[in-house]
Amino acid sequence: MNQNDNQTALIMIFGATGDLAKRKLFPSLYRLFEKNKLSDKFAVIGVARRPLTNEEFQQSIKDSVESAIEKEDRIEEFASHFYYHSHDVTDSDSYAALKNMANELDNRYELNGNRIFYLAMAPEFFGPIALHLKSDGLTDVTGFKRLVIEKPFGHDLESAKELNNQIRTAFSEDEVYRIDHYLGKEMVQNIEVIRFANAIFEPLWNNRFISNIQVTSSETLGVEERGRYYEKSGALRDMVQNHMIQMVALLAMEPPIRLNTEEIRSEKVKVLRALRPIEGEEIHKYFARGQYGEGTLNNQSLPAYRQETMVDPSSNTETFVAGKLMIDNFRWAGVPFYIRTGKRMETKSTKIVIQFKDIPMNLYYQTEQQLKPNLLVIHIQPEEGITLHLNAKRAGTGMEATPIKLNYANKGIDGLNTPEAYEKLLYDCMRGDATNFTHWDEVALSWSFTDKISAVWENTKDESFPNYASGTMGPKAADELLEQDGFFWWPVTNLDVDNC
Ligand code: NAD
Repeated sequence: MNQNDNQTALIMIFGATGDLAKRKLFPSLYRLFEKNKLSDKFAVIGVARRPLTNEEFQQSIKDSVESAIEKEDRIEEFASHFYYHSHDVTDSDSYAALKNMANELDNRYELNGNRIFYLAMAPEFFGPIALHLKSDGLTDVTGFKRLVIEKPFGHDLESAKELNNQIRTAFSEDEVYRIDHYLGKEMVQNIEVIRFANAIFEPLWNNRFISNIQVTSSETLGVEERGRYYEKSGALRDMVQNHMIQMVALLAMEPPIRLNTEEIRSEKVKVLRALRPIEGEEIHKYFARGQYGEGTLNNQSLPAYRQETMVDPSSNTETFVAGKLMIDNFRWAGVPFYIRTGKRMETKSTKIVIQFKDIPMNLYYQTEQQLKPNLLVIHIQPEEGITLHLNAKRAGTGMEATPIKLNYANKGIDGLNTPEAYEKLLYDCMRGDATNFTHWDEVALSWSFTDKISAVWENTKDESFPNYASGTMGPKAADELLEQDGFFWWPVTNLDVDNC
């Protein structure tokens, strides 16, 4: 495949007046355009219900790019590629007009019949749109056709299967690009490189040398205006089923024989197949759930989850999850992968801490405490980098060990902003590279893992809710989960890349 050829395409964005399109998709497309990663031969049709003229739509593109990017010299030229089609996606009659518009732009911009359909809309529309695209002939093209789908991909395994069957009537599996925007993040992609391009880590990357792995993704924001969605989703579906499990798969997978989509996916799938299913009573031993109560953060008083708009005042929805994942294979037997994620926590941070086993005998005592274990910390966001925690000699006459840190800060060294996840994912999709999108097998396996947990949580009311104050790192049960194994959560704020 000549990947450059594929950068010519008609992109149809369904939900073009929505939050995702404005905040992420338009600015990301502009960045690609500015870097000449999008050829001049592209056109975008924005589809949404609201009536808008092309001019009004183009103005909204300019506004969204201008509010996200400081320098936008080529904005007029960029916006001229955008067209608008007012269309209710549930209205069958409207697809014919959309098809005519698409064919006309295809000719005008010489797009070789290449089409990307980006569904930036509520998930209940995904299936019906895919079916219409096929039945109304929008997918009858001479070039490639690709479907980009936002999360959530279903609500559980059953609904995900149903959705998958619907979209697969119009698109084959290799034409479906399921977005997990964590997979577009620079440092998530870096997990592979750190592991497979360094001779010093891979020999240690197993149960003989690693004692446990901790993946934290904490937010300071509450549920904001998404109460209606979140009530049905909760942290387990919103974060664990997709982002957290994907990060674990990248950390745990075997080296692929080649760095291509199929090989990487097949290694990730093997990890998910080895994930120990946790069900019934065992869930209490392996998982802890939480819901935020009132609290303070940065001197600001914050409401409890149950006081948020569109939230049931006696809601049983979890806004926090901590869990212990066990991967029952040769490499990882006995090594816990702890995950935790939540809203309204003390700090906004996504970090991975790989804790190595203690050395067999400690010859060097520090003045106050035992020797610290070696840690490899991967900072995903907001800062991006790696920190290696070692022990070295304390300067002076004695022979004492003291902890030191070796830091690599991504932005600090390159002096550049790393590309937004959506920019990379859109670019990958244009080039036909599906590596950083989730395959159906991964989606199905992770739903079958989390479905067992939600089955229990939804049927047992947690009487302790709310069980953590806003502005803290979650409920006590999350700490106990590690304490029972003799570990503790490394505090994410003290592991920072410092100011290197
Ligand atoms: P939104 O509510 O802001 O926008 C929805 C869009 O769909 C609007 O353009 C609206 O006009 C259009 N729409 C609704 N009903 C329609 C109909 N019947 N016919 C035609 N158009 C219709 O939603 P959003 O926040 O942009 O999210 C879109 C999708 O992306 C959702 O699946 C969401 O879960 C996912 N997502 C959003 C974000 C984010 O940051 N906003 C992040 C991750 C995933």
